[in-house]
Amino acid sequence: MVETNSYRLPTPEPGAVLTEVVRANICGSELHIWSGNHPLITDGSLGHEALCRVVELGDGVTTDRAGEPIEVGDYIAPAYFITCGECAYCGRGQFGQCANAYREWSKNPTQHPHFTGTFATHYYVSPDQYFYRVPDGVGDKAAASANCALSQVLFGFDEVGLSHDDTVVVQGAGGLGLNALAVAAESGAETIVIDGVDERLDLARRFGADHTIDMDEYGTVEERAERVRELTDGLGADVAVEVTGVPDAFSEGVELLRKGGRYLEMGNIVPGETTDFDPGKLTRKSIDIVSTMRYDPWYLREALEFLEAHEDDYPFADLLDADFALEDVQEALQASNDRSVTRGSLVPERD
Ligand SMILES: [Zn+2]
Ligand SMILES: [Zn+2]
Repeated sequence: MVETNSYRLPTPEPGAVLTEVVRANICGSELHIWSGNHPLITDGSLGHEALCRVVELGDGVTTDRAGEPIEVGDYIAPAYFITCGECAYCGRGQFGQCANAYREWSKNPTQHPHFTGTFATHYYVSPDQYFYRVPDGVGDKAAASANCALSQVLFGFDEVGLSHDDTVVVQGAGGLGLNALAVAAESGAETIVIDGVDERLDLARRFGADHTIDMDEYGTVEERAERVRELTDGLGADVAVEVTGVPDAFSEGVELLRKGGRYLEMGNIVPGETTDFDPGKLTRKSIDIVSTMRYDPWYLREALEFLEAHEDDYPFADLLDADFALEDVQEALQASNDRSVTRGSLVPERD
């Protein structure tokens, strides 16, 4: 169940920023929390993807994390997690794994500073949280989505390595998959996407997919792997990206790759769901597996710059297909969960 409550707006502490939420998207994590399936968070305020407008700057905040001047009224995109700079992971440069990543996210709203989820009129950006000014000209819808899928994809591709002469197969044409196609296409790579839903495959083409593999037409792993080989001089793909969240897709990825290929696993994020896996095949093909969760926070700036350069080339705004008033959050979650809405947004009304 979702409850809505009212709290007094906090005064930002030094280094913090109080914002009003312009648009907040409903992402898979919110549905996991709402339905009680999130491995870490069981209650608290909801929401992590958002475009925000600065209401009040705490002492010392004059720029975003890239040094761009920031003023009241500016649009910003915050990373949804903390980078504490002090834990074992931050000390090793693995900022996306910060042990305190969720220290300020989805807290119980009765606790100060109350506004720690983006499904709200306001959102509190804490001093340890990276945020960036949204470049002029980047649309609200694209900007609101930048801190999740696009940042994740840009980071993932840097971790797995992506070259202009690679062929990349993307498993799944959901939000992450479509962003992955656009990033791979802009890098100059040849792109193949696998999905079973016609509308998603159509959208994938608009996001830069050179080839589509329809799971209705290619019904088995063997058929799909054979099709990928046909498209890659008989070898298999250089890079595969798993963004379906289906455990069996992970095993399939190994079949789609060439010997020496690289595999980026980002979609399966719920522990406890398993798949049959053949490690001998993995070794014989000498495949590198890279998995990523979250991202180094400055990838959010890369995401905003990517949008500034390429927003018009891909239908980013079409990824959000339904706006809801904040009061209708329960209906918005239900519609997202039923999949009658692909990706909904909450847009708080202002007087
Ligand atoms: Zn998200
Ligand atoms: Zn840390």
